[in-house]
Amino acid sequence: MATTKSSKSQKVYFFGNGKADGNRHMKDLLGGKGSGLAEMTNAGLPVPPGFTISTEVCSIYYDQKGHIPTPIDKAISENLKRLEKVASATLGSSSNPLLVSVRSGAKFSMPGMMDTILNLGLNDEAVEGFKARTKNGRFAYDSYRRFIQMFGNVVLEIPKEAFEHEFDAVKKSAGARQDTDLDEAALRQVVDRYKKVVRDRAKREFPQNPREQLQMARDAVFRSWMNPRAIEYRRIYDIPDHIGTAVNVQMMVFGNTGDRSGTGVGFTRNPATGKKEFYGEFLINAQGEDVVAGIRTPQPIRELEQVMPKAYKQLREITTRLEKHYKDVQDFEFTIQDERLFMLQTRSGKRTGYAAVVIATDLVDEKLITPKEAVLLVDPESLTQLLSPGFDPDEWKKIPTVTTGLPASPGAASGQVVFTADEAVEWTKQGKQVILVRRETVPDDIHGMFVSQGILTATGGMTSHAAVVGRQMGKPSVVGAGGLEIHDSAKVFKVGGQTVREGEFISFDGLTGEVKIARVASRPSEILQVLNKTLPPKKSDIYQRFERLLTWADKFRRLGVRANADQPDQAELAYAFGARGIGLCRTEHMFFGEGRIPIVQRMILAEKEADRRRALSELLPLQRDDFYGVFKGMHGEPVTIRTIDPPLHEFLPKREELMVDIARMEALNQKGPELDEKRRVLARVEQLHEFNPMLGHRGVRLGISYPEITEMQTRAIIEAACRCAKEGFSVVPEIMIPLVGIVKELKDQKAIVDRVAAEVMKEQGVKVKYLVGTMIEVPRGSIRADEIATEAQFFSFGTNDLTQLTFGFSRDDIGKFLRVYQDKKILEKDPFATIDTEGVGDLVRIGVERGRKTRADLKLGICGEHGGDAASVHFFHTVGLDYVSASPYRVPVARLAAAQAALATRVGD
Ligand code: ADP
Ligand code: MG
Ligand code: MG
Repeated sequence: MATTKSSKSQKVYFFGNGKADGNRHMKDLLGGKGSGLAEMTNAGLPVPPGFTISTEVCSIYYDQKGHIPTPIDKAISENLKRLEKVASATLGSSSNPLLVSVRSGAKFSMPGMMDTILNLGLNDEAVEGFKARTKNGRFAYDSYRRFIQMFGNVVLEIPKEAFEHEFDAVKKSAGARQDTDLDEAALRQVVDRYKKVVRDRAKREFPQNPREQLQMARDAVFRSWMNPRAIEYRRIYDIPDHIGTAVNVQMMVFGNTGDRSGTGVGFTRNPATGKKEFYGEFLINAQGEDVVAGIRTPQPIRELEQVMPKAYKQLREITTRLEKHYKDVQDFEFTIQDERLFMLQTRSGKRTGYAAVVIATDLVDEKLITPKEAVLLVDPESLTQLLSPGFDPDEWKKIPTVTTGLPASPGAASGQVVFTADEAVEWTKQGKQVILVRRETVPDDIHGMFVSQGILTATGGMTSHAAVVGRQMGKPSVVGAGGLEIHDSAKVFKVGGQTVREGEFISFDGLTGEVKIARVASRPSEILQVLNKTLPPKKSDIYQRFERLLTWADKFRRLGVRANADQPDQAELAYAFGARGIGLCRTEHMFFGEGRIPIVQRMILAEKEADRRRALSELLPLQRDDFYGVFKGMHGEPVTIRTIDPPLHEFLPKREELMVDIARMEALNQKGPELDEKRRVLARVEQLHEFNPMLGHRGVRLGISYPEITEMQTRAIIEAACRCAKEGFSVVPEIMIPLVGIVKELKDQKAIVDRVAAEVMKEQGVKVKYLVGTMIEVPRGSIRADEIATEAQFFSFGTNDLTQLTFGFSRDDIGKFLRVYQDKKILEKDPFATIDTEGVGDLVRIGVERGRKTRADLKLGICGEHGGDAASVHFFHTVGLDYVSASPYRVPVARLAAAQAALATRVGD
């Protein structure tokens, strides 16, 4: 991306009077908000003037332990002077005071996670000047009390309740019902009480010097970058901690001067469904946070047309222009002061996966963007939302709806009621599925929202916190369900005469807003229904759009996409999802099929080779049929089959269970063949016991100890391929030997495969092509890849084991310490979810380079979980693999991520 380089020393960027120092390409320095304000200013839109203190200053603030160097302070003062000139008002003036907001804003939007302070610059004198200028004492004192409350809370860290308590007391004694009922005298009283709160709680006077206010507010915004909820948010969304936030200081405009004023937020399209409709909410006579805070219920934005037609028309024109300019849906904030419209923010709107696909395809149809741009517009991860289940409509109809709220984020949610975010986390840990029910969520609830099946709130609109975060997370959410009466201390809510307790099951539909008290079975998503052929593609609009988008993606990607699938139906589904080949078919999964385990156990328990061969010959026809089915399911695309991998004890009963059974039988004096058999199994289990099974007798090591297993598996594969060939349907099986670190291991197994394959082909009188290769998953395999490639026709990087063995982290035990590692910044991401490009990735790179040196046409792929992770797919593209293999449901993610990688852009930017 073209970043406009500014002079290195510039730390503060001005915007105002139709010109700005910054622009849209400077999000790194100015944050999203700052760059948007600059871009809108340059476009001649009505933006209150101000300046942005860059994210670099945030880093300096942390490096220097909270100290801002003098030259930066000077630059801030100069910009403030410039602002005062443009605004024709002076900070702290008793005749014509300038009021500003101090707004946080990082490169990636983090809704509500950091702090913003409004009405800064007021003090005991300036408020009088403000009153004189606006000829509105009520308004002046309302602004002052808001400022003390926000400043007190954000900067001086006094709990909100301390202020609310005083406010309610004044309201009560004045007999006021709404905040707007208080007159100037009452508000003066509130101000006095607030100042006392500050004195008592912060042990200092409320700062009267506006310069000091500004400095303190700026530093508080920097500090808010590191508050726990912001840190948690960044962890969830993989936003690095080091990038910091910018601070925007901007002249205030007022939506709270009376009935000709207001404030609102909106989207150029519906962010839940993607529908092309003007979408949003506003409040008359209100300021800033009032809309999102859910204190008053806002009006739908369309109603603004009746109240203030001119401002509405202008707003529509401006936002339509912004959408064209940015070539994407815009999420905007505005304020109307005495019928004059001001734009306060614009950014790409966060949307559900569903909306993302609808919007991308619509924008192409409207010729606003090209298919290439559409491919870049959708976050690959969000596609998984389109595959998640909905309710069975027949079941759903049977249950009465108890209340209907606003459909904030689509999806079907069913779970047990909890009332706090902490409980949501606690219950989820116990394996329960929960729905978080709140009056209104706050940014501190983020961890609980993340684990819940869905979020249900009683107040708040379509742009409330619960709605915004729900959509972003792809969590079904219903908000503003006014019928709910929540008593969280009693852990119950009442609705339509019924009482629902913590732990009871409820369900809701995020697309319609309906809430029901029951657990409701769900059914596959529309897309899955089409893929399973239970719904004709023509009947599903979303399927057609999904297919179009992915077909575009296929044109741009270089990486092939395969699936990890073990059974014919999985292969069929993966094919329908667009996988062209299987990158990993785990033969042992077939051993767990019905009626097979006893045969497998007989094979393992066999003491003599002849007995083992007898058991294997029983398995042979079963495996052959499996492979045949998988080949058919993949429609002739390549299928990589891995020979047996796990340690044998995994197929036997648990040692403890056997011991208990034996002890019980002995106690009951039950003698006979059953007991003898159990004893024999126990003895074998004990013989097979290993201290570190993951590092034990598994993978190629099994094939070497028991060549007859490799023989049987080869025979099954080649016989199935011959059968296909006889049916006029050609397949090229790729036989993959796992866990090879020494070339001689592979040589040993390859000799068996080649010998048996030749035998089978002779018997069958058919010739089929097949490949022999290996999984590269022990570090030695990568390091000796040049040598291994002399025997291998393909490599598939098994990045799960490779990660385990490179770090020495057990995948099953990392949960015990990963969080600590992340908290201490030793690791940023879970290396089992996103490939560690530096370490494990380097081994992949080495394997690729050395392998290709020996064999230029070596086929290279990856079959670990990372194959379905967008960021990892980018890496595999860069390192030059031929394909990635992902689980069937992740195939669409991999297709889109592979296209984005080829178009050389970052994910989620
Ligand atoms: P957030 O990032 O949490 O949305 P903002 O910095 O956007 O925080 O501020 C929240 C709200 O405060 C804005 O939507 C706007 O309504 C109000 N606000 C901020 N700056 C100003 C200003 N200069 N004049 C009027 N209102 C403002
Ligand atoms: Mg905002
Ligand atoms: Mg492995």
